[in-house]
Amino acid sequence: MDKEFLHKEEMLSRDELENLQLKRLKQTIAQAKQSLFYWDKLKDIEPEDIKDIEDIKKLPFTTKDDLRNNYPVGLLTEPVAKMVRLHVSSGTTGTPTAVLYTQKDLDIWADLVARCMYMVGIRPWDIFQNISGYGLFTGGLGIHYGAERLGCLTIPAGAGNSKRQIKLLKDFRVSAIHIIPSYALHLSTVFEELGEDPKSLHLKIALIGAEPHSEETRRRIEEIYGIRAYNSYGLSEMNGPGVAFECKEQNGMHIWEDAYVVEIIDPNTLQPVEDGQIGELVLTTLTREGMPLIRYRTKDLTSILPGGCKCGRVHKRIDRITGRSDDMIILKGVNIYPMQVEKVLMSIPEVGQNYLIILEKQGYIDQMRVKVEVKDEFFVEDMRELKKLQQKIARKLREEILITPKVELVEHKSIPRGEGKAIRVVDNR
Ligand code: AMP
Ligand code: ZN
Repeated sequence: MDKEFLHKEEMLSRDELENLQLKRLKQTIAQAKQSLFYWDKLKDIEPEDIKDIEDIKKLPFTTKDDLRNNYPVGLLTEPVAKMVRLHVSSGTTGTPTAVLYTQKDLDIWADLVARCMYMVGIRPWDIFQNISGYGLFTGGLGIHYGAERLGCLTIPAGAGNSKRQIKLLKDFRVSAIHIIPSYALHLSTVFEELGEDPKSLHLKIALIGAEPHSEETRRRIEEIYGIRAYNSYGLSEMNGPGVAFECKEQNGMHIWEDAYVVEIIDPNTLQPVEDGQIGELVLTTLTREGMPLIRYRTKDLTSILPGGCKCGRVHKRIDRITGRSDDMIILKGVNIYPMQVEKVLMSIPEVGQNYLIILEKQGYIDQMRVKVEVKDEFFVEDMRELKKLQQKIARKLREEILITPKVELVEHKSIPRGEGKAIRVVDNR
């Protein structure tokens, strides 16, 4: 690591980091109590009750429902007039959850994002294209201000309009991008259509995130573009991007523990699980002013990777998100995560860049149908060949998810995709 540019919080020892966490947790409790919601919820706790960071377990959890029930401004610790930004979580059901930021919150957030970008090798002289929806989604402005903070020429390309994206990438010799992984795969099909090779770009680095994706998808993106792709994790409730990020080792995402306390719990018993065990990620903000959140249950499933990272940072690492606890499909009594299906599909060379899982009833029986795009060169006239491919995919899926889905092969680019996070499952049962 070239220490010169490292953020000072990145170089702390474990003890120093935990002392800083303790100090900031106490401040956060005091700050949170300024809001109506936590004034009541934390009525039995004072900052002095927290003697070490493990005492965080004495605090109550905060849930998405708490945010919904106190929508729009019930969790603010300061008057609305002191807030300067609003984002909304992209959940598809029920009342949205709003997150508001003071100027200080925005400054700290930009620093966190800049730190992530620096960690993977992006420098002020890089040209950075943010291929991400702007507006209420935090992946737009969140990454944008981080890139500017680092000093990059930052192109707010937004989502969609693939041909214009490609033109910008070429005209400005873009060297780093932020992109949703499913869109990165889709964009590669537009390159094909134009008869151009994504490898001919000046691109070196992609930050990919905002939706669950498998290691196989990452490798595919790296291969197609001839770049390194780094996993970026965040959620609006915790600012947005910049919560956890891969370092150059590409082996788990470091959570910035000077800004967040990380816990993994069993979602049923709510008890902590051991490092290495999968559970629900619970996060506490340590530097948020306008809307601190304590022990927020993210619903995201992951584990803490045991042991230190070769890069030398002591900030804990979480594994790739395997899905959300509310994403799980139960079919014929078997629990399946869409990510298991993706992992299999993306490892099969004939499979194209998009797929869709459809759950439906056949008589009284629940059935899974997987629509799979096939690359043009494999979408042949010979029915026997296609049948063989179909059987191969069904067999490989069965090995992973333990049931045999119906596999429907469709042409390249025939599954429609929106501009934001990909929709992977349609439940028609
Ligand atoms: P939003 O606040 O609407 O941007 O959505 C945040 C959610 O997106 C998280 O709680 C995760 O479920 C998902 N997400 C964000 N980044 C990643 C990532 N790198 N891998 C998997 N899921 C992610
Ligand atoms: Zn590392």
